[in-house]
Amino acid sequence: MPQTQPPQVNYLRLSITDRCNLRCVYCLPGTEFEKLPSREILSYEEFLRLAGVAAAVGLRKIRVTGGEPLVRQGVVDFLRRLTRVPGVAKVCLTTNGVLLADLAGDIFAAGVRHLNLSLDTLDAGRYAALTGGDHLARVLTGLERALALGFQPLKLNCVVLKGINDQELVDLARLARHEPLEVRFIEFMPMGAPERWQAHFLPMAEVKARLAELGPLTAVAAGPTAGPAELWQPAGFKGRLGFISPVSSHHCPTCNRLRLTAAGKLKPCLFAATELDVKEPLRRGASDAELAHLLREAVRHKARRPERSSPPTPGMARPMRSLGG
Ligand code: SAM
Repeated sequence: MPQTQPPQVNYLRLSITDRCNLRCVYCLPGTEFEKLPSREILSYEEFLRLAGVAAAVGLRKIRVTGGEPLVRQGVVDFLRRLTRVPGVAKVCLTTNGVLLADLAGDIFAAGVRHLNLSLDTLDAGRYAALTGGDHLARVLTGLERALALGFQPLKLNCVVLKGINDQELVDLARLARHEPLEVRFIEFMPMGAPERWQAHFLPMAEVKARLAELGPLTAVAAGPTAGPAELWQPAGFKGRLGFISPVSSHHCPTCNRLRLTAAGKLKPCLFAATELDVKEPLRRGASDAELAHLLREAVRHKARRPERSSPPTPGMARPMRSLGG
């Protein structure tokens, strides 16, 4: 049997809050959810300490996410400090963009250059129905601001939902025509209600077929740290398209990341129950060596884990809000 090469795990996602200012139907449907008590959420000091230890064990790329990271007070100062943690090579941010227009300049000045912006539709009514917030114009202003400032890479995350936004795939892709953007289409993962997923899942092969009118696509070589996105460039486009198929393809061989939840649980895999608690050791005064051991244990766990043999199924994972998407 051929041996699967363990992925080079070099990337840590920090979910700095479980709070969010949107209620996306695929992530946080409904109006309320049980929020973590503030004391259960790691402090910025705790995240910064862990980031330093993580960098020392080779996790040198760090993404700040949530929940919605920009709703946490003091986030810009945290980002500034994170970019200065010795060993941290890249600090990336994922946001829904609702607060981006106001904060983009400060985030850029803090030293962040890698920005992912979630945008599933260009229709204001559909945006409001999908996210529970009437904020499309603000998000688009945030995107313009981010382009003007020169964030690079600047990626748009678009979760494809059959019957909801799949008529807009070509329009969304065309955002990358004149701008140096990467528009990434992401398969809807079965985190929440099974009926919703069954009704709205669209496989990536179908997404690609619907983009045929853009003309021939040229494959773009993905770098060693690109993760699971398959990259393509349509003729005449300044930017490119990314296809992320967590359901219809096996990502395990290219998955290079660990996740740390806002509550301080280290997750080697989005679809596995295993979580290693780092908050308890942190708060009882564990040494850096002990924390490094925990991080290495999570990396080893990932390498040991047999490749997922079947697609993820509804209920297999918690909503992304609590995991750090
Ligand atoms: N609030 C930020 C945002 O909206 O970008 C960061 C957190 S959000 C959980 C991170 C990413 O996860 C978003 O791009 C979102 O679209 C994606 N996501 C959430 N639930 C998903 C699901 N069920 N399937 C696929 N992607 C999902």
